[in-house]
Amino acid sequence: MLFRQLFEKESSTYTYLLADTETKEAILIDPVIETAERDAKLITELGLTLVYGVNTHLHADHITGSGKLKALLPGCKSAISAVSGATTDLALNEGDKIAFGSRSITAIATPGHTAGCMCYVLDDNSMVFTGDTLLVRGCGRTDFQGGSAEALYESVHGKLFTMPETCSVYPAHDYRGQTASTIGEEKTHNPRLNKDKDGFVSIMAKLDLSYPKKIDVALPANEKCGIFDEERDGEE
Ligand code: FE
Repeated sequence: MLFRQLFEKESSTYTYLLADTETKEAILIDPVIETAERDAKLITELGLTLVYGVNTHLHADHITGSGKLKALLPGCKSAISAVSGATTDLALNEGDKIAFGSRSITAIATPGHTAGCMCYVLDDNSMVFTGDTLLVRGCGRTDFQGGSAEALYESVHGKLFTMPETCSVYPAHDYRGQTASTIGEEKTHNPRLNKDKDGFVSIMAKLDLSYPKKIDVALPANEKCGIFDEERDGEE
């Protein structure tokens, strides 16, 4: 399998390219609109066929690249959870698989950062793509978009932390230059999630974060998986 971690610096987002090297079918997890052309060029250069642009959730900080990639690489489809309510080619539910060649990822529902968050586990349990549910030594905020600190704690402890400790954790963002972690490492060293549930909920309640600067543009666009009328969606 081919695996590549790509980065979009304005929103500090990681996009992941996974491909079956035999059949050349590929997926992108959490593509970003600003880097969709870069990603499409790489996919073309590597002789791959993009089958899905998969989103972990309705991002508030950037516009997904899945709409632009559909235009750049015809045949590509968008995917996101059904619970997100977004218009998409493939609305995912718990346990759904997305295949690329002989490999696949399985969607697991991990509400908490948003109500519709999903993590994606590789078929051999060696990698999990955690979106904003679990970051390296952190986690996504839980104060809007149907977020819930209690739900995030249950998602992480009930689902992610029951996976093999050696499983690599690939988050949607990192703001400190870290690239990946493991389930075992986060169980021990995640300063928020190594607490009990009450401790976690009280940490999240005190964060006092500012409103994301792109949310008013990003959410309407992401509700259509990045397919939008730029002029109309820019109006009040
Ligand atoms: Fe997010």
